[in-house]
Amino acid sequence: MRLGIISALHEEQAGLVEAMEGPAKLIHGKREFWVGRLWEIDAVCVLSRIGKVAAAMTATTLVEKFGVTHILFTGVAGAGDKTIRVGDIVVAESLVQHDMDASPLFPRFEVPLTGQTHFQPDQQLSLRLSGAAHAFLECDFLDTISETERQAFGLTQPRVHRGLIASGDQFVNDRLRIDALNGALPGLVAVEMEGAAVAQVCHELDVPFAVIRAVSDNANENAAHDFMRFVKSVAAQYAFHITRRLCRHLVEAPLQPRSESAGM
Ligand code: SAH
Repeated sequence: MRLGIISALHEEQAGLVEAMEGPAKLIHGKREFWVGRLWEIDAVCVLSRIGKVAAAMTATTLVEKFGVTHILFTGVAGAGDKTIRVGDIVVAESLVQHDMDASPLFPRFEVPLTGQTHFQPDQQLSLRLSGAAHAFLECDFLDTISETERQAFGLTQPRVHRGLIASGDQFVNDRLRIDALNGALPGLVAVEMEGAAVAQVCHELDVPFAVIRAVSDNANENAAHDFMRFVKSVAAQYAFHITRRLCRHLVEAPLQPRSESAGM
């Protein structure tokens, strides 16, 4: 297995690149790809930058140029539902491009000429990822997130959610907008700007992938408030320790070949 790990923001990626053994930096398409070993997994870490096109370009390059066999996206997102709180973790069960709308020619949200609105991540990898997220919250959370930061962001008992992630080229910071998306997309757990683009690329190239996000904001008028502080002091720790746990588990118990897990 060769795992491609995409982050959207520099702060989310920095710790992972530092943890790589003997990384080689290769530049392609105006991006730096860090190739090496990460907790004994053959890995390629890359910063996609923000938005669907950036993410699609990055995922495509990872597969076509760097030969990754699996893709993991780690990042932050706005809460897609009132029951989801800042500091919670969401693992995608399904992804949709919420700004895709070629109606009335095609149904709203459908990617034209694919017949699809929702794209599904790999179940096996997603299950491992939510396992790693649970273990992180149980074993590492209190040690890795300082009390000051826990208090500042009201992080008391963060939880892991599985569900629908919606992506679009828009930072959602409007209560009416997030309520409308929640109403139009049943099962919505988070909004962000890259996941569903990676999902479409991976679907088209037949590459298993998974998406995990730390909830940084409520996608309302306060969304940008303390956003970078959360990314640096909370989300970066989440991404680092969850990826570490995932990689260790992948070494101990490699994934089953896809055909065997197809019915899962
Ligand atoms: N203020 C930041 C902007 C980052 S854009 C800056 O200056 O760099 C937001 C990033 O976090 C994207 O990668 C997106 O995937 C995710 N994200 C977090 N909260 C979001 C929200 N409410 N709406 C959309 N994307 C969000």
